[in-house]
Amino acid sequence: MTKKIPTRLYLSEDERPRYWYNLRADMRDKPDPILHPGTLKPVSAADLEGVFCKECVKQELDDTTRLIPIPGGIREFYEAYRPAPLIRAYFLEKALETPAEIYYKHEGTNTSGSHKLNSAAAQAFYAREEGLTSLTTETGAGQWGTAMAMASAFYNIKLTVYMVKISSEQKPYRKALIETYGANLIPSPSNTTEAGRKILDADPGTVGSLGCAISEAIETAVKTGKCRYVLGSVLNHVLLHQSIIGQETKIALDKYNVTPDIIIGCAGGGSNLGGLIAPFMGEKLAGKSRTRFIAVEPASCPSFTRGRYAYDFGDTGKTTPLIKMFTLGSGFMPSANHAGGLRYHGMNSTLSKLYKDGFLEAVSYVQSDVFDAAVQFAKVEGILPAPESSHAIKAAIDQALECKRTGEKKIILFGLTGTGYFDMTAYMAYNAKTMTDYIPSDADLERGFATLPDIPQNKP
Ligand SMILES: *Cc1c(COP(=O)(O)O)cnc(C)c1O
Repeated sequence: MTKKIPTRLYLSEDERPRYWYNLRADMRDKPDPILHPGTLKPVSAADLEGVFCKECVKQELDDTTRLIPIPGGIREFYEAYRPAPLIRAYFLEKALETPAEIYYKHEGTNTSGSHKLNSAAAQAFYAREEGLTSLTTETGAGQWGTAMAMASAFYNIKLTVYMVKISSEQKPYRKALIETYGANLIPSPSNTTEAGRKILDADPGTVGSLGCAISEAIETAVKTGKCRYVLGSVLNHVLLHQSIIGQETKIALDKYNVTPDIIIGCAGGGSNLGGLIAPFMGEKLAGKSRTRFIAVEPASCPSFTRGRYAYDFGDTGKTTPLIKMFTLGSGFMPSANHAGGLRYHGMNSTLSKLYKDGFLEAVSYVQSDVFDAAVQFAKVEGILPAPESSHAIKAAIDQALECKRTGEKKIILFGLTGTGYFDMTAYMAYNAKTMTDYIPSDADLERGFATLPDIPQNKP
């Protein structure tokens, strides 16, 4: 008889991961290279070092090193809020009357309220090590901006945050929190950059988008001395930092001989999902497991489920290198749904490749169904989930209910990426039953696809 699994699966000090895991090293078919938008040749480190910290560039282009040591100066910061709790959802299992076992990794226990601090800490640390004095970034829902503000305060770096305008209006307390940690916050589009002014001229009433805020942040970084740009998702070095989530989870589950049948994560730019699944996907690629992996996205911004696999810009201003990814087109403007962290047109290139090759599945849900799941979860597990995370909850509940129907005793793991304390506007709309579900039409999507770069690599 095996021992009952505790509600929290702890890791002792000497069990904590000392390495990030680079999944690309174990992929036989690598993601396509990032291209220089002018020459359409693979980018070199030198091309990227004007924009990003050197160490991040090195990690971005590294397809071969499996394990990358986490520097002591970053582990020290991780110790303040990690390991993140890995929780057996006994109460949810009971409420659903499912034979399935459900586990979730709770990344929302730090003040920024999400997994984003894992990469923010790394990027601020490297900036300081490289002698930079300031950083710029964008933030959608505000979680990344908060995480970067916290990390920049800790490592003593100045930070400017371009916050998507709709989010800065929907989430005034996020804005206040970012400013409390000392960052300079600018709603985007703004008239502080050429990219912002161009977008405002074309569409003065725009609610903004992550892609547009990215253009503004990059422009300011490039024009400022000893300043670089940091990005909170999408890129491979961010996935690498987020592998701390999967590393901790796998070590803890292995201790209890638990092997997930299904791993689920919400997908905005793909970093939390990529980080959670990394070591498990490594085993699947090696033929050692049959785990299924499911990305969950909003029906209003369906990059995987309705997007195209093509080279695209990372920003609306079309200034970044070209990434081969599932994308809705950098000109796609998602509707103002409440999962701000999932309103991005594209998806990380490694996950895109895995999806293309059939190792990863994807589903999408409308937000009212997602909030039904969020409230159901909150009532039994006690944690108020972020709207983004609730996409994963919804998929986990659906899988558990499928087990109830078939009688299968599957093991389901999902990423609870954050808490929803700053999303009360969304919960108020849900409670008042004024929440609407918007699904883009095929014609809406075609308008986005029309903004894809017209280059030979994108021809069939
Ligand atoms: C940013 C964010 C997401 C989206 O994460 P990606 O790594 O970009 O997919 C999900 N949940 C929360 C709480 C977030 O803050």
